[in-house]
Amino acid sequence: MSLTLENVSFRYAGAANGLDDVSLHARQGELLAVMGRSGSGKSTVLRLVAGLLDGYRGRIAIGGEDVGGVPVWRRHVGMVFQQYALFPHLSVIDNVAYGLRMQGVKASERQRAALDMLTRVGLAEFATRRPTSLSGGQQQRVALARALAISPRVLLLDEPLAALDAGIRQQLRDEIRALQQASGATTLIVTHDRDEALSMADRVAVIDNGRLLQIDTPQRLYDAPACATVASFTGLSTVLPARVTRPGMVDTGFAELHVETGAWRPGTTVSLLVRPEHIQCDPPVSTLNRLGGHPGAVRFFGATCRFDFLPEGATTPLLGESRTPASFAIALDPAHLRVLPPVEA
Ligand code: ADP
Ligand code: MG
Repeated sequence: MSLTLENVSFRYAGAANGLDDVSLHARQGELLAVMGRSGSGKSTVLRLVAGLLDGYRGRIAIGGEDVGGVPVWRRHVGMVFQQYALFPHLSVIDNVAYGLRMQGVKASERQRAALDMLTRVGLAEFATRRPTSLSGGQQQRVALARALAISPRVLLLDEPLAALDAGIRQQLRDEIRALQQASGATTLIVTHDRDEALSMADRVAVIDNGRLLQIDTPQRLYDAPACATVASFTGLSTVLPARVTRPGMVDTGFAELHVETGAWRPGTTVSLLVRPEHIQCDPPVSTLNRLGGHPGAVRFFGATCRFDFLPEGATTPLLGESRTPASFAIALDPAHLRVLPPVEA
């Protein structure tokens, strides 16, 4: 089932916080990540879809059906939260079967379905255990099995990996993605983790301050962010204030640089995005945009290293990433420089 939010606005009672005019659409079977910093409104989106919050403006539809006024239990959504939220007094298998029991599925059938789901998350042998006797990663697999057991119309995951250690987080990322694809469930996953959003999702909606900044594929968000905020959410970067001098040229104060992005009128204040891997060094390949300057701190990361490079006359260093750090010259290939709207003060 597809999921649609059209011009959805919401305010928490007595608070200025909420959502402003958010529109997004997840196609049938799509995994859409909702990414943004803490407090940006990500969970609010999920709660509205689940039916846990009332009093929004706009339209929310599941499978084309407006769900305004439809209570939580009739929305057929599966939910997984950061803190597992399993029933401690129920066995693992009864946790997984819970939703089916609520739907009135008879005992033998729901036990079979729950065991099947447990097998799929690799936990069949723990069926009769209490959830609290399992590790965090295992508990989250149980929560996932419980959410999927009801064949939800939409699967909602709110920071499902945030409470787990790095190793298990990586592994569960892949497991969740595989399960989601096998089940075909249209899925919203809320996360503040850039790697998680970019590596798991078909598309990512970036939210800041209750507003949708951009929704696109991970690749497009990274390569063509709509603004400096999306650029910084999607990867390391240096953002420089600049001014368009003539078509195809911007002035950063320390250099006039060639850029390929058009459509910005001369005199316009902009910001210039430089991704670390696009700083050419040792030797610089591009014949345009060569900059002399001073190499700064180098951090070694195995396959690559990150380095600072302060161009002659500049006050902020550029962050670079390559196998070898910059020496005394770099080049910025115009094809990889992005001209973005100015950063608001
Ligand atoms: P996040 O992106 O971290 O998931 P939320 O959607 O939970 O953010 O919250 C968005 C904003 O609304 C935050 O500023 C938060 O403090 C505020 N907020 C959340 N729940 C409530 C509430 N019940 N009452 C008032 N404000 C709330
Ligand atoms: Mg949240």
